[in-house]
Amino acid sequence: MSDRQQRHQQAMQKLKSHVDDKVAAATEQRGQLLVFTGNGKGKTTAAWGTVTRALGYGYRVGVIQFIKGLWECGERERLIDDIHLDVHIMATGFTWDTQNRASDTAACLEVWLEAERLLADPDVYLVVLDEITYMLKFGYLEFETVRRAIANRPREQSVIVTGRNAHRELVDMADTVTEMQDTKHAFNAGLQARRGIDY
Ligand code: ATP
Ligand code: MG
Repeated sequence: MSDRQQRHQQAMQKLKSHVDDKVAAATEQRGQLLVFTGNGKGKTTAAWGTVTRALGYGYRVGVIQFIKGLWECGERERLIDDIHLDVHIMATGFTWDTQNRASDTAACLEVWLEAERLLADPDVYLVVLDEITYMLKFGYLEFETVRRAIANRPREQSVIVTGRNAHRELVDMADTVTEMQDTKHAFNAGLQARRGIDY
């Protein structure tokens, strides 16, 4: 064996034992809280990717979209017929146009009830709260209400929260936090949002 091959083999062995140690140390099994935040693109797509992953094993999944208006969403179109998937959209495009705080809050609280129901159901493996950070930021929803529902969820259930400017306490209580970095975005170079890529 050449020197170079030997060095490579030693490095690989060292890496393998390091990974083995980490695998051995990860012994706890429970649902996780994941936060996908930051200004870069990829938060909602990562959430839907995980939804697809969980559905692939036949788990039950709930998705709440805290978005105003019936935005197109290719993933939702593709997965909606899956009997294990339960999707609720805040919608009410009407309120977005009117910018009516009272009706926005009412729409948010109405869909939050569905979120609470999912977060209390031990048969639901994964719950996605898409764009909920804005609801907290606008004050449509109390952070304490959300914190309590997430903290008291069934042990085996995982939750994904998406949206920019995630609440500090939410980041603190999360198991995994990914900050999408906006290194570059096509939109800023004048490119239109693209069907099947951006929505
Ligand atoms: P995606 O849904 O593509 O994963 P996202 O959830 O990370 O994006 P949002 O802030 O929810 O991002 O943005 C919703 C829309 O804005 C999407 O069409 C997305 O492609 C686009 N977008 C995301 N990040 C940026 C950015 N930094 N500049 C401009 N547009 C963006
Ligand atoms: Mg998003």
